[in-house]
Amino acid sequence: MKTQILSQGDTLAAAKILKAGGVVAIPTETVYGLAANAFDDAAVKKIFIAKGRPSDNPLIVHISKVDEIRDLVQDFTAEAQKLADTFWPGPLTIILKKSDAISKIVSGGLDSVAVRLPGHPVARKVIRETGFPLVAPSANTSGSPSPTSAAHVIADLDGKIDAIVDAGSCKVGIESTVVSLCEYVPKILRPGAVTFEQLNRVLGNVKIDDAVLNPLGEGVRPISPGTKYRHYAPKTKVIILKGDRDAYVDYINNIRSVKNVAALCYDEDIPYLKVPAISYGRESDPNLQAEKLFNALREIDKIENVDTVYARCPAQSGIGLAVYNRLLRAAGFNVVEI
Ligand code: AMP
Ligand code: MG
Repeated sequence: MKTQILSQGDTLAAAKILKAGGVVAIPTETVYGLAANAFDDAAVKKIFIAKGRPSDNPLIVHISKVDEIRDLVQDFTAEAQKLADTFWPGPLTIILKKSDAISKIVSGGLDSVAVRLPGHPVARKVIRETGFPLVAPSANTSGSPSPTSAAHVIADLDGKIDAIVDAGSCKVGIESTVVSLCEYVPKILRPGAVTFEQLNRVLGNVKIDDAVLNPLGEGVRPISPGTKYRHYAPKTKVIILKGDRDAYVDYINNIRSVKNVAALCYDEDIPYLKVPAISYGRESDPNLQAEKLFNALREIDKIENVDTVYARCPAQSGIGLAVYNRLLRAAGFNVVEI
């Protein structure tokens, strides 16, 4: 199939393809999503095939107005309304018990559904013009770093999807925060730009799921099926080094046994490193780190003759927790204290 590249003014063309059961990559403020009509199982299945996504990994349903959630869930609870009032439109996904309008294909066999009202005006316009909620997982091949530009989508999915709406690069750069309201206390299943601290202020008692910072134990079934799969990983092996700049620079510059090494570091580290280095932002700016991380992970694979990249460990508060979570998964939880 030939993948059409549409401009951000061409949302009507995107909506037409979606209404006819096609799949279109659309920009959101987090990452590019691969969209299909959430009420059309045949269209939804095309997403799993294009991405190579395991069928038990559920999809997030995107809406263009808060009220549209009412048809998708059994009960739009008071807690959920508070979250929607505070954080929508924006990078927060809320999980509630699903209604019968949501098929098991969308929910990956679960009895819950994940819903988000995106902040990106082009995403909302496409949803509105299509006239249906849209499922839209990240528009990458399953397992590879999520796409923050149309070029990333093309690199993974050219020829496998009907179209891409190109609206430049994504401002947030990492996927939405996912919070489940189906647990005993609200639980963050995936950290994102809406932080633990912000959610706690609105809901009071919020927990962070163990799978956010730890590998799954043997035989443990995760609440979020996505957490059991390899994620965000470049082909190059990633190892996280936890320590300050001096320790980091020293460690890398003195590696002798491994020759083909690169660094995934902060802007300020670059002048001190003797190996090829890609920055994922300034040390003092976790928002910039989030924005740049996935592109940096993709750039690493373009450096010739590098088999291992040593990543500077980000701080873990605010949006930094989300940056750390993505890097941990890219590294397969391989962290060295230095
Ligand atoms: P993606 O759309 O690729 O950003 O991934 C969506 C993430 O949300 C995956 O990790 C899913 O496993 C998770 N997710 C979606 N729906 C649910 C649900 N109903 N219950 C738990 N996790 C979910
Ligand atoms: Mg994804």
